[in-house]
Amino acid sequence: MAGLSDIEWTDATWNPISGCTMISPGCTNCYAMRMASRLQSMGHPAYTGVTRKSGGRPVWTGLTNLNGEALSTPLRWRAPRKVFVNSMSDLFQDGIPDEFVRRIWDVMQQAHWHIFQVLTKRPDNMLRVVTENRLPTLPNVWLGTSVESGKYKSRITSLRRVPAQVRFISFEPLIGAIGKVNLSGVHWAIVGGESGPGARPMQQRWIEEIKTQCKTQKVAFFFKQWGGVNKKTTGRIYRGRTWDEFPKQTISIAAE
Ligand code: SF4
Repeated sequence: MAGLSDIEWTDATWNPISGCTMISPGCTNCYAMRMASRLQSMGHPAYTGVTRKSGGRPVWTGLTNLNGEALSTPLRWRAPRKVFVNSMSDLFQDGIPDEFVRRIWDVMQQAHWHIFQVLTKRPDNMLRVVTENRLPTLPNVWLGTSVESGKYKSRITSLRRVPAQVRFISFEPLIGAIGKVNLSGVHWAIVGGESGPGARPMQQRWIEEIKTQCKTQKVAFFFKQWGGVNKKTTGRIYRGRTWDEFPKQTISIAAE
């Protein structure tokens, strides 16, 4: 599945891998798992076997499909886009061959007119794969990690060690307070509440705590959504306005 996206901080999604495994409480109501189940039932070949039903709800089976034919998709998009890489998976989960990550990196290097946003809950694996394979630090590739509560702040420490021109944190779904956080080496923070069935509510003081620290540590702040069972009704206004900051980075975006 690839194409234009409704996600507020990106333009398009690109999924050369489908399927994942849960790693922490932020995964409990994983949107990708629900969507993958739907695509699987519609017969989409990339999603064959990646989910099963358990207690009436979809869960990952642990199978991941490498969709080699999807690799070249961004090269066909001539207009520059921000591209969320593997919105339906986690590029750095166990079992993804380093060789396949290298192929994804090659495409991101070739498609230099796009910005690629790579987000993982496994920044330790990201660090290993990037360093062991000597993957180049590309100006158009932003590397990020998800942190759903203070318990998982150590992911930021790992992310900081990964060579990147832009590093970002997705505090979504924000299901607990983050507390004091060191944002050095981080350029961008996204905050969002969980949405969809079973959404766990986000408290305003958790947002404010992150926003304040972004300001003092000069990190771009993006407020994605309040979330809730129906996120359209709660919207994305915080303190009377939207917060749509992006990292201060410009790249050459002219397609050849
Ligand atoms: S790591 Fe991401 S895609 Fe994988 S189960 Fe967790 S939330 Fe879903």
